[in-house]
Amino acid sequence: MMLQSRIRQITQTLLALSCALQAATSAADFSRVVIDAGHGGHDRGAGFSHTYEKHLALDVARRLDLYLRSQGINTTLTRDRDKFVSLSQRVAISHAAGDAIFISIHFNYARRRSALGIETFYNARNANSRRLAQMVQSAALYKTRSRNRGVKHARFHVLSQNRQPAILFECAFLTNSSDRRRALDPLYRQRIAEALAMAVIKFRASG
Ligand SMILES: [Zn+2]
Repeated sequence: MMLQSRIRQITQTLLALSCALQAATSAADFSRVVIDAGHGGHDRGAGFSHTYEKHLALDVARRLDLYLRSQGINTTLTRDRDKFVSLSQRVAISHAAGDAIFISIHFNYARRRSALGIETFYNARNANSRRLAQMVQSAALYKTRSRNRGVKHARFHVLSQNRQPAILFECAFLTNSSDRRRALDPLYRQRIAEALAMAVIKFRASG
């Protein structure tokens, strides 16, 4: 009887251990978030009158950085000021960060001035990227109520060359008057940063 109950105990322990191991290997675990503010320096990105993408992207990146660090999450910024960083340098920073996920922040433009809304691109090289992109897009839709342009696969250098879960988020169209008004509002940029942080936290918990 004693032996049977001991065996049962050991079996349960082994089962618990194997479940924990399975969870650990399938979990979307990462130790750092690489925050990539698009463009910088002579590369101003999209612009409209005197509003440039490089400034707005850096502002969202800083807000996201603050938010994540307040949650105890380690971060690395590919740039923390207005300077040029090449696309391959950005990927190198991402890979050097080790066990990380990569979030690139951009503002959009289109010839057609009526184009507006938010969209998230993902890298097809990493199986978790699409899931992260979906979480980012839905958190951002929830926070901003912007037009949903969807989650898409793209071959942008910072995504296609990245081995880690990597996404690129387009915050708003600078070529659309109502989107531009939102982009210029610090509250909107804060909402985007909070949505990105929410998605990161959800992604880590999702396994
Ligand atoms: Zn851009």
